Amino acid sequence: MRRSTALLLGLAAVAATYLLVRQGGDAGSRPAERQVARETVIVGQAGTVDWDSVRATRAAVRRRIAESDTYLPLMLAEGDSLLRRWPDRVDRPITVYLPEGGVTGYTVAMGQAVENAFSRWQRGSWIPVQFQIVRDSAGAEVMVRWIDRFPNRRTGQADLRWNRRGWILDGTLTLATHSQNGWQLSEDAVYTVALHEIGHLLGLGHSDVSGDVMYPTTSVHDLTLRDRRTAGLLYALPAGSVTDPGPGR
Ligand SMILES: [Zn+2]
Repeated sequence: MRRSTALLLGLAAVAATYLLVRQGGDAGSRPAERQVARETVIVGQAGTVDWDSVRATRAAVRRRIAESDTYLPLMLAEGDSLLRRWPDRVDRPITVYLPEGGVTGYTVAMGQAVENAFSRWQRGSWIPVQFQIVRDSAGAEVMVRWIDRFPNRRTGQADLRWNRRGWILDGTLTLATHSQNGWQLSEDAVYTVALHEIGHLLGLGHSDVSGDVMYPTTSVHDLTLRDRRTAGLLYALPAGSVTDPGPGR
């Protein structure tokens, strides 16, 4: 599965997008599931799946989402029925490789803006996830990549991989130092783009309320209560499908 959504940042016309790349079904290329923290499927005594329990659990999850003041219902309404998120990572932070420069237009302030954006999510979003910035790419779970510019109006992009149960395995954030027309991005713009893309990295989709960081055309500089509530709900639920397996399953 592959998804692309553009983010436009106000009049500056800087834009970001995210691509979600589902783990393929080819066993040869399937990453190890070492980061899977929880199972959502309940197995009965005979070793078979207890579908009644699965149905009841998923119905309860759907109800909780529907009754929430978050933008998770929008995600379900758009036909995306798989909740994707990282396993709880408080004790073992997610490692983020953040290279210092290597591209035209990079400034130390841009790097700091990205670090601040990660910090903002982990401080203010009520989720059981911590990040650790590392300077060695080997083994890092999130790779930040700086580029001069995208060939379109984007200024950022998040790519994710997850396993079939919806647990996120790793991701890449690609951030530009210039807009498509060559304007150098301010550190404020880089911060806003990073904040939005980290939201996708955490498994969030888009908000339908302008003013939220996860609104597709956001230009806001801080998480709203709704951003925080949506992330909080996502991380209070298990990853995985929320669709009814149907009768007979
Ligand atoms: Zn987006």
